[in-house]
Amino acid sequence: MKFNKVLENIKTYEAGKPIELVVREFGIAPEDVVKLASNENPIGTSPAVKQAIIDNAGKAHLYPDDSMFELKAALASKYAVNESNIIIGAGSDQVLEFISRAVLDEKSSVLMSAVTFAMYEIYAKQMGAKIYRTASYEHRYDEFMEAYQMHTPKIIYLCTPNNPTGDATSKEEVLKIIHSVDKETLIVVDAAYMEYAAAKDSKYAMEPNDILSFPNVIYLGTFSKAYGLGGMRVGYGIADSEMIEQLYKMRPPFNISTLSLAAAIEACKDETFVKESIVLLQEQIQRYEAFAKENGFAYIESYTNFITYLFSDDMDSTKIADALLKRGVIIRNLTSYGMNAIRITVGTAKQNDIFFKHFLEVIS
Ligand SMILES: *Cc1c(COP(=O)(O)O)cnc(C)c1O
Repeated sequence: MKFNKVLENIKTYEAGKPIELVVREFGIAPEDVVKLASNENPIGTSPAVKQAIIDNAGKAHLYPDDSMFELKAALASKYAVNESNIIIGAGSDQVLEFISRAVLDEKSSVLMSAVTFAMYEIYAKQMGAKIYRTASYEHRYDEFMEAYQMHTPKIIYLCTPNNPTGDATSKEEVLKIIHSVDKETLIVVDAAYMEYAAAKDSKYAMEPNDILSFPNVIYLGTFSKAYGLGGMRVGYGIADSEMIEQLYKMRPPFNISTLSLAAAIEACKDETFVKESIVLLQEQIQRYEAFAKENGFAYIESYTNFITYLFSDDMDSTKIADALLKRGVIIRNLTSYGMNAIRITVGTAKQNDIFFKHFLEVIS
């Protein structure tokens, strides 16, 4: 059996390890496992959203509303855009896939920063496209322009704040790149963590309306992080209506389930929950910064709900991540991104206590 040649150089996406796996492999009780690996919301899901999911359980036998009228209306009002500017995906991941399939082929290329969201590369490679990266993990204007002029990529990915590093690019810098790029290049502004960045420093805050006048730019958002709905798989793209019309051709019918739609609609109404999530994050991330300083290693200043610890040669991130895993603490090792570093999702006070305790034991 022969598969498409492009599959030969695709490495399967490695998701954060689930709690169940650690329970099975290391015999740790589920309540003792701390998962700080997938940037999920540690306080869970808003109670109103949980109720909405329960209330809609009786509709499970019916196909969902494929027009997604209510969710689009909620997003349109939240961001002051039109419904025709919005496409909903099973996670913003699915919108990334639509974008890739809509514009790439085996003759095209894409451009992204040195260390960024792994799925950009995977979706582009599925189409046989070539991958170019800048030298830095930060999104630097000069590096992007140089590579853009050299390779004329079909897509430029700007991940701000950036995952897995946690740094952000200022709105000014992002707009400078957008202004300097020809309309034939599609620019993705992936704003999966924008709620956290906007709360920290308005210089980094971007909204769909900042890009809507550019026909070649799309803004991506998700309910998986600050809104606490990772398990429901809802994300969105906001762009010029002509781009949305094209992307719609890639969409399978009923791509968002009835319960996911109900959850996301309710989540839009509960901004208090998002604010609480951000307050907790801001309190707890300070502990991670202080902890790094006390123990003498570096970290990247974070505009997200996770923090990246950078190690020097005397510390090995793989050994540290493995030792933590055996103790039931799941974090993300960044060696596959070429970094001797770990990424930790900031948890509740209690989860973070457990991380600090085990981490100190592991490194001593
Ligand atoms: C989490 C994440 C997404 C998408 O998440 P979905 O759950 O698919 O909505 C997209 N981009 C980045 C950078 C992310 O970290």
